[in-house]
Amino acid sequence: MAEKKIIATTSLAGCFGCHMSILDIDERLLDLIEIVEFNKSPINDIKKFTRKCDIGLIEGGCCNSENVHVLKLFRENCRILVALGECAIMGGLPAMRNGIPLKECIEEAYLNGITVHSNTQKIVPNDPELPILLDRVYPCSDIVKIDYSIPGCPPHADLIWATLYSLITGKESDIPYEVFKYD
Ligand code: SF4
Repeated sequence: MAEKKIIATTSLAGCFGCHMSILDIDERLLDLIEIVEFNKSPINDIKKFTRKCDIGLIEGGCCNSENVHVLKLFRENCRILVALGECAIMGGLPAMRNGIPLKECIEEAYLNGITVHSNTQKIVPNDPELPILLDRVYPCSDIVKIDYSIPGCPPHADLIWATLYSLITGKESDIPYEVFKYD
């Protein structure tokens, strides 16, 4: 039997919807685990790379210093890096803040927003352990080289399956047009 390919996944500035879509490949997960082994991933809760990987799937773009650090770590440890979903490809919903200065975003979130009730002491979180927010939300391709992109918010499970299958086996997949989504 051929050696299993090693896959790692992560969620940066995303909502985990793309990871839900990975799980939506349903019973094909059983086929998948016959041909791959997951390394660092929220799917198996392995927190650190324990070896070099063949494929890295990235959900979400980069909105803070931690996202950039993790993304660079994935680039170093994965031979093929795939942007999974619109947030990873072009920033997605979190990038809606890009037209607003960061200071204004923080003040709205913690000080002035109509939903801010409990922050009576008007504290903006500033623990040194917290990742530093970037001036805007960046697509992954602005930070590292991305080899492939799977569009959609989230991408259709059939498209994820077909892409993974092709990358793992080297065989072309016949992907129906209907499974491509660009929103
Ligand atoms: Fe969530 Fe959509 Fe972004 Fe995926 S692309 S992380 S589903 S908002």
